[in-house]
Amino acid sequence: MRGATRLAPLLLVACCAAAQTKIDPARVERLLRRAVVLDLHDDTTQMMVDEGYDLTTHHDFGQVDVPRMRQGHAAGVFLSIWTDAVRYTPPESIRRALEQIDAVRGAVARHPAEMALATTADQVMAARKRGQIAILMGVEGGHMIDSDLAVLRTYFDLGVRYLTLTHTEHTPWADTSSQPPAHNGLTDFGRQVVREMNRLGMMVDISHVSDKTFYDAVETSAAPVIASHSSCRALADVPRNMTDDMLRALAKNGGVVHINYFEGFLDRGFTDRLGGLQDFQAQQDAREAEAPKFGDRAKLGPATRAINAQRIARLGRVPLIRLLDHFDHAVKVAGVDHVGLGSDFDGADDLFPEGMEDISKIPNLVRGLMERGYSDQDILKILGGNTLRVMREVEARGAGPRPAAASQAASF
Ligand SMILES: [Zn+2]
Repeated sequence: MRGATRLAPLLLVACCAAAQTKIDPARVERLLRRAVVLDLHDDTTQMMVDEGYDLTTHHDFGQVDVPRMRQGHAAGVFLSIWTDAVRYTPPESIRRALEQIDAVRGAVARHPAEMALATTADQVMAARKRGQIAILMGVEGGHMIDSDLAVLRTYFDLGVRYLTLTHTEHTPWADTSSQPPAHNGLTDFGRQVVREMNRLGMMVDISHVSDKTFYDAVETSAAPVIASHSSCRALADVPRNMTDDMLRALAKNGGVVHINYFEGFLDRGFTDRLGGLQDFQAQQDAREAEAPKFGDRAKLGPATRAINAQRIARLGRVPLIRLLDHFDHAVKVAGVDHVGLGSDFDGADDLFPEGMEDISKIPNLVRGLMERGYSDQDILKILGGNTLRVMREVEARGAGPRPAAASQAASF
């Protein structure tokens, strides 16, 4: 009884602290007006090429468009330039990458009042000041340079500001996390790719790579590296997520892990349930195999979305707290200066948590972090401040003169 009596004041304090977690909507609004919200990974580009998806129109499908970015107070997004490394040969990947870059640049050119192409942190800030959404680009997969630094440099010239070293297949110079190792991390040419990215001022993205490739990239890179869309392996044991040791190494390097919202990377139970729906995956693979590689691919999107809707109906959605847990864990392990947003919107079969179904839902993330006791300063860092810092550091180390033209491609 005495123990209980002594506990009473503590319980009262705990009770009041809990009551204080009711977050004032005005605080959320105020913070979002100050924030520079940057999302490092959005796969909307495929829909732009294949279906003529207009970024400036509000859609009732997909996760990203300018009206919803404005609702979510997003200052900018990195649109992903991506090809399937199995279906497309490397030269075909380059062609398809150019189509995507062309689609992004064209969309921005057609809507100068709404959007601006940004290649630097300063340009992001300038766009925000003018009331434009900053559109940035990242190439997702080293296979898309076809082992040729000239192609890498050309992507940079076209405005691309990160390269993910691999997608789900090995490149001839780097191991992916999705296959048993082939090169033991980065080859000598792989290290050359990283150094050339440093020299250009292009961010090195280690999402999708094997653990050894990650450590090799961190060791090789003279600038901070990023994970553009990765979550925490301690909370969801999938090879695509980062271990605590990797999170600490990334922090030491000055980099930022941008948390992926895909439910399969947030909750292992969900991953297993998803793995049980092979019939849906088979349907989707068959649709993709039927579609031409170039040209008339417009039917693919609606068919894929219909399959996704069935999958969502079967699986339900994981609660938002799972996503908040990953932010929280990454902050605890790497530090609040090393965490950002990497939604994977439009790239993960609509499988996103309840309350984070599209980019308009960013206020829910802010509210959730506030409920967990995060200060406004810390939330501002997570929403985009950390990313801007890394962009500036990478830019400062880059922009060197081009070397004299020499052998550009690796010989294998
Ligand atoms: Zn990805």
